[in-house]
This record gives sequence, C-alpha cells and structure tokens, in this order.
Amino acid sequence: MAKTYDLIAIGGGSGGLSAAERAAKYGARTAVVEAGRLGGTCVNLGCVPKKIMWYGASIAHTLEDAAAYGFALKREGFDWGRLVAERNRYVANINNWYHTYLADSNIDEINGFARFVDNHTLEVDGERYQAEHIVIAPGSSPVVPEIEGAELGITSDGFFGLAQQPRRVAVVGSGYIAVELAGMLNAVGCEVTMFLRGEHLLRRFDDMLRESLMEEMLNDGVNIISSSRIERVARADDGTLDLYCNGSGQLQGGFDQLIWAIGRRPASAGLALENTEIVRDSAGYIDVDAFQNTAVSGVYALGDVTNAPQLTPVAIAAARRLSDRLFGGMAERRLDYSLVPSVVFSHPPIATVGLTENEARASHGEAVKVYQTRFTPMYHAFTERQSKVAMKLVCVGAQEKIVGCHIIGFGADEMLQGFAVAIRMGATKRDFDDTIAIHPTAAEELVTMR
Ligand SMILES: Cc1cc2nc3c(=O)[nH]c(=O)nc-3n(C[C@H](O)[C@H](O)[C@H](O)COP(=O)(O)OP(=O)(O)OC[C@H]3O[C@@H](n4cnc5c(N)ncnc54)[C@H](O)[C@@H]3O)c2cc1C
Repeated sequence: MAKTYDLIAIGGGSGGLSAAERAAKYGARTAVVEAGRLGGTCVNLGCVPKKIMWYGASIAHTLEDAAAYGFALKREGFDWGRLVAERNRYVANINNWYHTYLADSNIDEINGFARFVDNHTLEVDGERYQAEHIVIAPGSSPVVPEIEGAELGITSDGFFGLAQQPRRVAVVGSGYIAVELAGMLNAVGCEVTMFLRGEHLLRRFDDMLRESLMEEMLNDGVNIISSSRIERVARADDGTLDLYCNGSGQLQGGFDQLIWAIGRRPASAGLALENTEIVRDSAGYIDVDAFQNTAVSGVYALGDVTNAPQLTPVAIAAARRLSDRLFGGMAERRLDYSLVPSVVFSHPPIATVGLTENEARASHGEAVKVYQTRFTPMYHAFTERQSKVAMKLVCVGAQEKIVGCHIIGFGADEMLQGFAVAIRMGATKRDFDDTIAIHPTAAEELVTMR
C-alpha cells in the first residue's frame, strides 16, 4: 500500500521546500523527498557558500585598498582552511535548522531518491508514495564535457569541497558561475586562467556589462584566453594538469586545479519519467505551462528542472504561488517571469534587470533611448586598485519607460533591489529624475543621468 499525502515535493531545495512549506501552512499533509542535503543547491553548493567565499575575496580587496586610507596593514597569508571550515559550519547549521523546521511544520521528510512508477506514484527506497499533487523540483547539476581526461577536473560542486587553496587554476566557461569562481580565486591570491569558447564573458548580458567586466578582470590579473576549445586533459609527470586546446595545437599546462563551469543540466534523467506521460524537451527540461502544470494533471515542475531563470528566488516564488493556487483558493495565482532581477557576484559585482540594449532595440527599434555613465566611485578616488562603476538605463517610448537597468561596480549587488521594484511598477526616466538623490553614493547616478 502506498503512503498518501496531499502534496509531495521531489527535492528538498529552494523550490520543493517552498512548495511544501506553503502547502503545509494551508493545512495540507505534505512530504519532501530529498536524496542529498536539505536546502538543495542554493544552501549547500550554490548561493550561500558562494557568497561567503565572495565576502572573503572582497575582504582581500579591501585589505589592498586599506593603505590608501592610512592603515599600515601587512597582509600575511590567507587561511583558506579556516574560511572553508567557518563556511561549512554555517551551511551545516542551515541544514540542521531545516530538519527542525520541517518537523515543526508537520512536513514529513523522506530521505532517498524519488522515481516515478506511474503518473501519480513515486518510489523511494522500495517504499511507494502517492499524492493528489506532486511537485517536481530536483534542480540541476553541472555539466562535464565528454573529452579525454575531463574527470581530472572538478565542477562548482568540487570547488566547494576544496580543503586546500589551489595555486594555479584553470576555469573553463564564460557564464556567471565561471566569472564568480574565477574572480574569487583570483582575489584570494590564486593564479587564474579562464578559457572561453567564444570571445566574451556572460553571453546573455548587456554589452556594457560584458565589456566592463572583461576589462576589470584583466586589470585584476585574471588571465583570459578566448576562442579556446579544450579537447583533452592530461596529468603531467609533475602532477599538474595539461590542457590541450584547438586541435591539440596549443598546450596550456601547469594547473593544479581545473574547474569546469560550462553549464548545468536539468536533473530530470533519473526520475524515470518514461513511466509517465510527463514531457521533457530535448535538453531534459520538463515542459510546463504558465501555472507550472506538466502534461500530467496533478503533477507540476518548477525551478532549475524547467526552462526558467535558474535562480533561487525564482524557484521559491513559483513554488509558493503554486501552493497558493492549489490550497489557498487563488485560482489564477502564478509567477510572472518577466523583469527578474539578478546579481553576478563577480569582482566587481553586476546587477541587472530587464532588457539589454540590444534586446530592446530588436523589439522597440527607434523608440529606444539609452542613458549611460561610467565613473570612478569615490571609494576608489585615491586607492591604488582602481575599479569603475558603469550604469545603463534602457528606456522606451515618449514616456521613456524604463525596461532595463544594468549596473557593474562597487555596491551594485545591494543597489538594484529597490530599483527593480520601481521598474516593475512601470517607472519612467522622469520618475527616476524626480527622485531626490542620496549623496554621496554611487547609486545616486541612477537618478541623475543625463
Ligand atoms: C555555484 C552556484 C551559485 C549559485 N548562485 C546563486 C545566486 O547567487 N543566487 C541565486 O538566486 N541562485 C544561485 N544559484 C542557482 C540556485 O542555486 C538554483 O537556481 C536553485 O537552487 C534552484 O532551486 P531548485 O529547487 O530548482 O533546485 P535545488 O535547489 O538544486 O534543489 C533540488 C534538490 O533536489 C534533490 N534531488 C534531485 N533529484 C532528486 C530525486 N529524484 N529525489 C529526491 N531528491 C532529489 C537534490 O539533491 C537537491 O537537493 C547558484 C547555483 C550554483 C550552482
């Protein structure tokens, strides 16, 4: 006999936990199935440990800047092991908190890997479960290329397992995870080489952000090799890694760590979806409609396993709205996926929301007007390490409605959230202009651009 619930979430990450939590608040009998650690990617192998490392790297930069502010500091080493231990302790506390929280919220925790037996039945470690509503939220996993020697490298998952600081690191990839890992490793003193398949970083971002970040990373000492296709990896006699690129004509060697950051793949392959009528696309993303419904009634998917922006708050928001709809009597409740703000924790950070200039011009043509600025923030007025701030507002039509806002530079990560609210509410350039600036800040430039 299968055990039954009102809602079962597959995956105890951002999406699955949020769906169960909101459903339980409405009094539904819920369970979360988790094969690994509660909290999912964000807590264990993503946002949280990444941000801790980013803070560490930012402190390294601050120490460099301190001399200009009169501090006679001598930077004596960096204890990678200490930072990793503190970080792991912090993450473990969050894991433990989740166990208690689930118990207190009357959400059953099922440990194990869920597979579908049929459209409405799951099996976990030989036990069968059924629910009126099943939420599929197993997330995604990092891709490793199918080339000789690829297993000699690690992924972002492996990065968080590094007990010792690597000395010379190759980071392969140009997306946000690649630039974040490369930036933090470089800041704490590793020698970092990035290998890009194309010419530029951050393919889907506004050109201003891509160009500024490339310049900043090069100035910071990151070695960037573009148009480079790695075809083979081998271990040299001295134990370091050799990367053979572009027809093996080029060899880049001497790396003691290689990190693949070339993308992520939806974790749908192990769910035995072939036993159901749930539909996936060719990349493995589960097909859903605007209400997170899959092709099977009563089964939903959300988060990284769908082709949505791969961000924790997106998975959480979709999940909460789904449970509001299923148990809270809000029949039309769903997530509007437009204008999702996001931050890249590069050095310096990037914050972005809405259309890039190119996207706006492609859909609105001549009606687009762009305001842009680039300046040295006061913080760097006399520091040896120089880093600029660049900002762009993309406006459309006679009212100059703001459809895109892009920022790179010191403080960008904490700057955008409030502006994203205004842009979501339909703010125009005039609304920005009418807002009194906060002085002296870098953010004030966003309301004073000419
Ligand atoms: C390095 C890195 C940095 C990131 N930084 C940020 C950031 O700064 N900001 C941000 O918003 N997002 C960030 N993300 C993305 C964010 O972590 C994801 O978008 C988010 O975790 C997706 O939530 P989810 O619920 O879809 O999946 P997850 O959080 O990945 O949770 C899925 C869970 O399901 C479990 N699972 C999988 N299959 C099964 C199964 N069959 N049975 C049972 N359990 C299963 C997994 O073990 C996992 O715990 C980052 C990701 C990475 C990799």
